[in-house]
Amino acid sequence: MKILVINCGSSSLKYQLIDMEKETVLCKGLVERIGIDGARITHKCGEQKYEHSEPMKDHKRALEIVLDQLVDENHGAIKALDEISAVGHRVVHGGEKFNDSVKIDGDVMKAIRDCIDLAPLHNPANIMGIEAIQELIPNVSNVAVFDTAFHQTMPAENYLYAIPYEYYEKHGVRRYGFHGTSHNFVAHRAAEIVGKDIKDLKIITCHLGNGSSIAAVDHGKVVDTSMGLTPLEGVCMGTRSGDMDPAIIPFLMEKEGLSKEDINTILNKKSGVLALSGISSDFRDIEAEQETNERARIALTQFANRVRKYIGAYATLMNGVDIIVFTAGVGENSKEMREDIMKNLTFLGMTLDEEKNNSRGKEVCITTDDSKVKAIVIPTNEELMIAKDTKRLS
Ligand code: AMP
Repeated sequence: MKILVINCGSSSLKYQLIDMEKETVLCKGLVERIGIDGARITHKCGEQKYEHSEPMKDHKRALEIVLDQLVDENHGAIKALDEISAVGHRVVHGGEKFNDSVKIDGDVMKAIRDCIDLAPLHNPANIMGIEAIQELIPNVSNVAVFDTAFHQTMPAENYLYAIPYEYYEKHGVRRYGFHGTSHNFVAHRAAEIVGKDIKDLKIITCHLGNGSSIAAVDHGKVVDTSMGLTPLEGVCMGTRSGDMDPAIIPFLMEKEGLSKEDINTILNKKSGVLALSGISSDFRDIEAEQETNERARIALTQFANRVRKYIGAYATLMNGVDIIVFTAGVGENSKEMREDIMKNLTFLGMTLDEEKNNSRGKEVCITTDDSKVKAIVIPTNEELMIAKDTKRLS
């Protein structure tokens, strides 16, 4: 069984064709600059790499080009498109309607459309991707896998904001949480690694990348997560501010004469470790300067402190923790950041094994064998999780 996984952004599209018998990637690629000058596709199939530029007016044209590559004689992986059994689509926002992935029909499309207000940049692109596949390969079934679904188990006391209740009722203003597919994947994998049922474990999953979020997974269910109505809340990130005093917003709007678009751009694109360091949003660039540049040190230390604050809060919320998982770009690759985060966590009963932590991008338990609480690095694999859900539901 072969499943195509599609992740559409506003002007980009990532894809993987996955063989579900062996759970291996047959080919994958990225289309960038859809609808703008300089559109291009980068496609990889084993050792073969294919790059091509041509104008792509919309996601449908981009997907036509993607499908052509999948069946290409030289760098394709299948002979005909009917070898694709189903298509799994990453959909960012499923609101309160979806607590699991779902096979797509008319009602599901309407529900995804109804969530556009909550994810105005992402859901329209996801819809374009689904509609394009429905036109281009009409006989294949499509499954939507939501970033928000895994977090839907949160209780009301943790997802409601302490603002007038009518805003929740009228506009759905509440905590939803994101990166759910990743938190779901690594939490279940962590349980597998320690050989226990997830229902017997308290797990804190730290998805630390350009966007970062932490989740408290209590006996298999998310009870709290750091991102909120949008992915802006929580720890500071590459370019996002994360938690801050909400009064800063009207204060700055008045002082600087900023519009709501300006303030959105500042908090989403110009803040985070980029703003703190004044160097870059990329943790590698900041780490390279931390010995000589005080602001680089501050940015990295603040990031580590904020992650640690969430770990402490969630350990308390769950009355303990068995496993802390590190995943995504920073969590998987930066041994320095993991070391920094774990520095003051010894009180929880965990000791870092420096030798085991000296690794990059690999699945490894980085605490000593006698640690009561385990810390495990698990490379996330959202595409495989989407493909597995697609297989289950199609
Ligand atoms: P992601 O959003 O999960 O793709 O993560 C991307 C981020 O991971 C990049 O912005 C980098 O800052 C970070 N990253 C990747 N490799 C490393 C590394 N070796 N050391 C530190 N940070 C890294």
